[in-house]
Amino acid sequence: MNIHEYQAKAVLKDYGVPVSAGVPAFTVDEAVKAAKSLPGPLYVVKSQIHAGGRGKGKFKELPPEAKGGVRLAFSIDEVAAHAKEMLGHTLVTVQTGPTGKQVNRLYIEDGSDIARELYLSALVDRSTGSIGFVVSTEGGMDIETVAHNTPEKIQTFHVDPAAGYQGYVGRNIAYALKLEGNQIKQCVKLVGDLYRAFVEKDMAMLEVNPLIVTKGGDLKVLDAKVNFDSNALYRHPEIVNLRDESEEDAKEIEASKFDLAYIALDGTIGCMVNGAGLAMATLDIIQLYGESPANFLDVGGGASEEKVTAAFKIITSDPNVKGILVNIFGGIMKCDIIARGVLAAVRTVGLQVPLVVRLTGTNEELGRQIIRDSGLNVIPANDLDDAAQKIVTAVRG
Ligand code: GDP
Ligand code: MG
Repeated sequence: MNIHEYQAKAVLKDYGVPVSAGVPAFTVDEAVKAAKSLPGPLYVVKSQIHAGGRGKGKFKELPPEAKGGVRLAFSIDEVAAHAKEMLGHTLVTVQTGPTGKQVNRLYIEDGSDIARELYLSALVDRSTGSIGFVVSTEGGMDIETVAHNTPEKIQTFHVDPAAGYQGYVGRNIAYALKLEGNQIKQCVKLVGDLYRAFVEKDMAMLEVNPLIVTKGGDLKVLDAKVNFDSNALYRHPEIVNLRDESEEDAKEIEASKFDLAYIALDGTIGCMVNGAGLAMATLDIIQLYGESPANFLDVGGGASEEKVTAAFKIITSDPNVKGILVNIFGGIMKCDIIARGVLAAVRTVGLQVPLVVRLTGTNEELGRQIIRDSGLNVIPANDLDDAAQKIVTAVRG
């Protein structure tokens, strides 16, 4: 689960991490009020969307020369003008895709004087079984570009999970970031605080870009992006409260209500599969035959008829879907349950696109019988290969 920058900063602040003073705002009036509560004379007006690259982003409704989604303001009036241009408008960044995201919230921050912009992120590194800190002196810009053009400028440091955070990790990071004097001490504390926040809040990813050295010589977190491990949310109601559903895919929200592992993709073939491995293989084979999947969906081993119906409805609610492939290997999941679920769903939502069904395993004959008897226009398939070819042919022709 993702949260907004201002929420991430509030979480980190509780761990003693240095951030600027700031106030969220949902209207121009609130933005003005927020700015008035800050010391000034420099303010930053920051669009809050669940995507990075806001500073260099462009608003669809504004001329191309207009400023992006993160702007400096030198007066309260300027804060108001920026807020007016951002709120309700669609910000397109390298991370939002061409459709962009509507800005519904702003964060009004006390402006900082920047001497240096650095990069620091923390992630769960599966290859070492530990939390790794990725750092670079090249902060403030797109880290993917740095990784591509000057990979030597990115370094990684790990925290031994048995020993926990040790000061030397922070010192090594400080040297890698070319920090000096008191900044080294600040860095040792900062990395320790970030590590504690990461572990205690079950984060999956934490990105600070930029981490700055102020003109006064102090370290400060100027931007923060946090992703939490969804499997651990049950023990963090305070984090669940920060959820902004307007930032998420409506189909994924609906799927989560039914405990379905659904990920929206941008292709044309809707997929209903049981088992994550088989689901991945299904996406691959659709691609192999030249089309793209519209989603990943693992209906799980013990899916009920109700769950299958919900899954089918979610798939058909995607306007890009030009065909549906149901691919079930009935192990724990029984083929007749899937067949009934599919029929129930088709009866409620109708079937506007070709549907290929491959059922094999437990109760497969019963499942096929149910589908045959339904009189529905379903294309049966024998195996995965056959199924993929049939759905690709169907959507093309
Ligand atoms: P992003 O574009 O979504 O990554 O948003 P950031 O919060 O990282 O802001 C983008 C850029 O705006 C930063 O890299 C800074 O260069 C600049 N910026 C943000 N806050 C301040 C500030 O307080 N003072 C100054 N001078 N620049 C800022
Ligand atoms: Mg940033």
